[in-house]
Amino acid sequence: MMVEKAAGNFPYLAFQGLTAIPGFVHAVTTRATEGCRPAQQAARPPEPAAEFLEALGVPARKLILLKQEHADEVLAVEAARPPGDAGKPAADAVVLSSPGWYSAIRTADCLSVLAVEPRRRVVGLVHAGWRGTCKRVTAKALAHLLRLSGAAPEDLWVGFGPCIRNCCYEVGAEVRAAYRERGHETREIFQGRCLDLIRANRLQLEQLGVSRIVDSGLCTSCCNDRFYSYRREKTERRMWTLAGFRPGLSRLHPLE
Ligand SMILES: [Zn+2]
Repeated sequence: MMVEKAAGNFPYLAFQGLTAIPGFVHAVTTRATEGCRPAQQAARPPEPAAEFLEALGVPARKLILLKQEHADEVLAVEAARPPGDAGKPAADAVVLSSPGWYSAIRTADCLSVLAVEPRRRVVGLVHAGWRGTCKRVTAKALAHLLRLSGAAPEDLWVGFGPCIRNCCYEVGAEVRAAYRERGHETREIFQGRCLDLIRANRLQLEQLGVSRIVDSGLCTSCCNDRFYSYRREKTERRMWTLAGFRPGLSRLHPLE
């Protein structure tokens, strides 16, 4: 489930249950959010609107954007090793283990996975389309997050954003073959000719012992009036899933 929120004039969505975590900022943008951009901005903006970031209280220079390649590279961002500003690092997942850093994943049909560990204040973001899911990018990223932070799988909260769902995601035989080749349980994650990205990613989380999952339940193709769907409209526009912790210690949730 997702709840509607607003920052300044910008409406956006947030995962129910994750909005109460102290210091945690997260947002999933929609067509309505992007529609609030100043009109002069390009049709395919490479980053979230500056005015939206400002309204959220996220400094643009602290926002790490990725060069997404439908692969399984995971970028780890720690306080001691902030990424340089020489372009976007090529990665489809990021782990933020230091408050004060933010990241955002862009999608239009692919699944965005958001993970948060409230006590250690660690965040993970994953871009999981059919290729990334086949390469188990979600499992790889969250295993990395757990290792880096020392968090237990049961302390992790995971949100599944809007994506194309099994109601609409008919794929070719080559996709099923790719999954079979990598040892996925194809009988579980395909229904007829349709790929179930949610089921496939749930299975990866279950294998890690992560069970606290908040699913938006939203299909970008069914709800094309609210979301961009690359498959449906071949659009260059994207939604953003943004997350991070504000800097500074919370007395309720001190760092260990
Ligand atoms: Zn659908």
